[in-house]
Amino acid sequence: MDMKEVILLKNGEIALKGLNRRSFEDKMIKNLRYRLSRFGSWQFSAAQSTVTAIPGDDVADLDAAADACGKVFGFVGYSKALMTDKDMDVIRAVTGDYLEDALRAAKTFKVCARRADKKFPFTSPEICMEMGGVLLSRFPHLSVDVHNPDLTVNIEVRDRAAFIHGNQLKGAGGLPTGSAGKAAVLISGGIDSPVAAWMMAKRGLEIEAVHFASPPYTSERAEKKVHDLLGRVAQYSGRIRLHVVPFTELQEAIRDNCPEELFTILMRRYMMRIAQTIAEQNDCGALITGESVGQVASQTLYALACTDEAVSMPVFRPLIGMDKNEVIEISRRIDTFELSILPYEDCCTVFTPKHPRTHPKLYYVQQAENLLESERLCSEAIAGTRTLTIRAH
Ligand code: ATP
Ligand code: MG
Repeated sequence: MDMKEVILLKNGEIALKGLNRRSFEDKMIKNLRYRLSRFGSWQFSAAQSTVTAIPGDDVADLDAAADACGKVFGFVGYSKALMTDKDMDVIRAVTGDYLEDALRAAKTFKVCARRADKKFPFTSPEICMEMGGVLLSRFPHLSVDVHNPDLTVNIEVRDRAAFIHGNQLKGAGGLPTGSAGKAAVLISGGIDSPVAAWMMAKRGLEIEAVHFASPPYTSERAEKKVHDLLGRVAQYSGRIRLHVVPFTELQEAIRDNCPEELFTILMRRYMMRIAQTIAEQNDCGALITGESVGQVASQTLYALACTDEAVSMPVFRPLIGMDKNEVIEISRRIDTFELSILPYEDCCTVFTPKHPRTHPKLYYVQQAENLLESERLCSEAIAGTRTLTIRAH
């Protein structure tokens, strides 16, 4: 066999899924195949809670491909690895070369061997002993630390080949996208909703997105910002379909006919209703928002309850108990923060009342809605909705 550098990915929670295991694994490999396709052609094989991604000759940038692997939900760890013959002489000869940089950088190390092929003539402890000795004599600055080493040298002897790799990097975790159904996120250009979308995608939901735009109060670049934000989320979730809803007429009707202190809550209720219709048309089972308790006037317990009352679908609010700092931490990690803080106007900020109700009474809210031609305004907004596909970027 030729030696070849490959990527190994460790399955996470799907190991717990019993009979569904196979379909989870198929989904993960499908997602992985899609995400890696832009780097060239690949072969995949799955065994012992590990997926092996074997690059074709047209794959040039294995590092970039490995980075992309770190964003596929369902895998808890990944690393590049050298795939080689199951031959102790070969393993002895190549390990030091393959991991040379990491071995030089480390002060302490250990060897961890796994032998899935029990016919291999060395046991795992024998492989560890042997390779520990080989590496110590070649890199005399190293010492062995079995508890907390800088570098773990992994030697895995599997059915068809042996794999040599260093420290495993942390994967994206979660469940494979699409394994838990589909939900529609209400996406603004803010910090919170992209994080909310990412968190639910992490739990296996396929994401559909709904954005409300109010031209000419909101600009094209504000919408472009939403495209860019979803492009970052799509690095993890795969492509996302975005529905852009024209919201101007409804907002103007609210502004012209309803009490000012109810603007925000009314807007939120109409957003939810329209999003629910779009969600139903696209087989989504839930709505997702970036709200958390007490963050702004429209996110008091009472306002949230009043918002929920407008729809019958479950509303997922993954940020509900989080502090802003915690949300920002995630947004930095998933690379949406710098985009989110670009200062483009959102439709919510255009018609913000000076003194929004923090304790809206449903009765008055409903009375205000009766002043509007709600049905016509909503169906016109839905009819004017544009749908586009956002790919990872
Ligand atoms: P974000 O950072 O996500 O904008 P926020 O803390 O600024 O959230 P609001 O502006 O009150 O809070 O919005 C609350 C939620 O309503 C958002 O997280 C998002 O899910 C939804 N939302 C707000 N504006 C829009 C919009 N223009 N289009 C779609 N959804 C929106
Ligand atoms: Mg906002």
